[in-house]
Amino acid sequence: MSILASLASKSGDNEFHTPIPKSYIVGKTKYVFTFGTVMSGLGKGIFSSALAKTIQDKGIKVTPIKCEGYLNMDSGTLNPFRHGEVFVLDDGMECDMDLGTYERFLDNNLTKDNYSTSGQIFQQVLDKERNGEYLGRDAQIIPHVTGEIKLKLRELAIKSKADIVFIEIGGTVGDFESLHFIEASRELAYEEGKENVVFIALTYIIEPKTLGEQKSKAAQLGIHKIIEHGIQPDIIACRASSPVTDKIREKISVYSNVPFERIIGLHDLPSIYLIPDLIKKSKLDTHLLEMLNFTNKIDSTLEKKEIKKWNALINAIQNPKKELTIGITGKYTQIRDSYASLIKALEHASAFHEIKINIKWIDTSDLEKNPDKTKEELSDVSGIIVPGGFGTRGAEGKIECIKYVREQNIPYLGLCYGFQMAVLEFARNVCKIPNAQSTELEESAKQKVIDILPEQKKIEGLGGNMRLGGKDVEVKKDTAAYKLYDNKTSIRERFRHRYEVNPEFIPKLEEKGLVFSGKAPKHPIMQILELPTNKFHVGSQFHPEFTSRPLKPNPLFKGFIEACLK
Ligand code: GLN
Repeated sequence: MSILASLASKSGDNEFHTPIPKSYIVGKTKYVFTFGTVMSGLGKGIFSSALAKTIQDKGIKVTPIKCEGYLNMDSGTLNPFRHGEVFVLDDGMECDMDLGTYERFLDNNLTKDNYSTSGQIFQQVLDKERNGEYLGRDAQIIPHVTGEIKLKLRELAIKSKADIVFIEIGGTVGDFESLHFIEASRELAYEEGKENVVFIALTYIIEPKTLGEQKSKAAQLGIHKIIEHGIQPDIIACRASSPVTDKIREKISVYSNVPFERIIGLHDLPSIYLIPDLIKKSKLDTHLLEMLNFTNKIDSTLEKKEIKKWNALINAIQNPKKELTIGITGKYTQIRDSYASLIKALEHASAFHEIKINIKWIDTSDLEKNPDKTKEELSDVSGIIVPGGFGTRGAEGKIECIKYVREQNIPYLGLCYGFQMAVLEFARNVCKIPNAQSTELEESAKQKVIDILPEQKKIEGLGGNMRLGGKDVEVKKDTAAYKLYDNKTSIRERFRHRYEVNPEFIPKLEEKGLVFSGKAPKHPIMQILELPTNKFHVGSQFHPEFTSRPLKPNPLFKGFIEACLK
């Protein structure tokens, strides 16, 4: 009998552990946990995604979940400047940017089940407490909070039908915020049986410039911190700036009870797409499957095929035939994480066209004060992108840039906010509505060309708030968008916006030549714009960057880069 079953039979009132979903079968699903030690920013999400990909390539079904320590229910209200971009899933969940990394590596659409925060977990516990579900006892971190975490993981296992669930515990071991997730991991391993769970510690090997050699002490102390919580790592992955020496691996092995061959070096690489290969070379994937007793499930033919496709991508990234400079206007110009998906989408499209892109970040608040500088600022770019954004800062400078590229017939791609700014630019300068404005920029504007339209929101049943998640877009035949999306009249893209084009102004905009080539089915919500007189002047109310995948670049990015190359 498994420990889980024996616990259930002994404790009649189920006082000490989680309610187990009825259809749950112990041992059917395996769990792989990744913890971070020493410091944050080691790329736990990237590592865990790349590892999951190497396993998925072998024909084994995987699903990831990220557990965040913070109390927010989702990432919707987080400042991208502090936390990186807010990634939006098809079901409308606003989550951590790591979920984007998982979707891209695994080429899979994830859902709210793949993302957990302390806030969500505590909310569940408090709801149960109010419903009197704790049978008169006090609600506690252990067993109720940890129980809720285990329940979430097991429900994901059932729903996803995955063979292996990859769990990334956010933060660094030692943080107060994620203690309950760490304790739940330990409990789950005890209940499931150690043969069904693998613990991976991601650590960092420092190499101080003044010493010129790698030092393992910080890593050892970080690993001890996990062991203090009753978790013995099975695998230790060592991030480092240069290849990790055997001496360091031996030392860590001796101090952590982890066999030498399972101490893996993961040094910095020029591209994250090279990580799966490094994982394979270190045999980390094989060790993992051996420990989980899963080696008989490997489909080597599929694996060969997947590796071949992936290698072609790496080859294209490493051997570009040409270089291009693309301008991106942005408020968070110092923090690249704020635009993670956008940068990735450009990377996918440039790999497709076998080129390399250099990004020039354009701070449009400067241009606002000095519009004459626009020409000079944009003189060396082959195209520009105005990405998503909120608020007023730099908006006039963005409109100035769009005017310049429209007049000079330089390729333009506007994403969400960039779509709205392109509408304003066209309304002001071509339709001669000088006061054309967005109510996001000026609430009392006279000509509300971009506005919140609650009547429309009501029709869609979404209330007055943000329109979120994947939605169908109707594409007009014989337009640039139609061609880019392989002559499809219905596509699905992801949204995150509150404002949209005011239908009152559509006839005027169209009369002057702007084409709305994508709209919401049944409602007059405009979703793609294009200007047929230009090489490429396209905007989308949705975020095409969220659906771009390494081997399937989003059509709008593909088309934009192609136009920039002409
Ligand atoms: N701020 C704009 C809106 O709410 C655009 C949002 C965005 O770019 N994601 O509609």
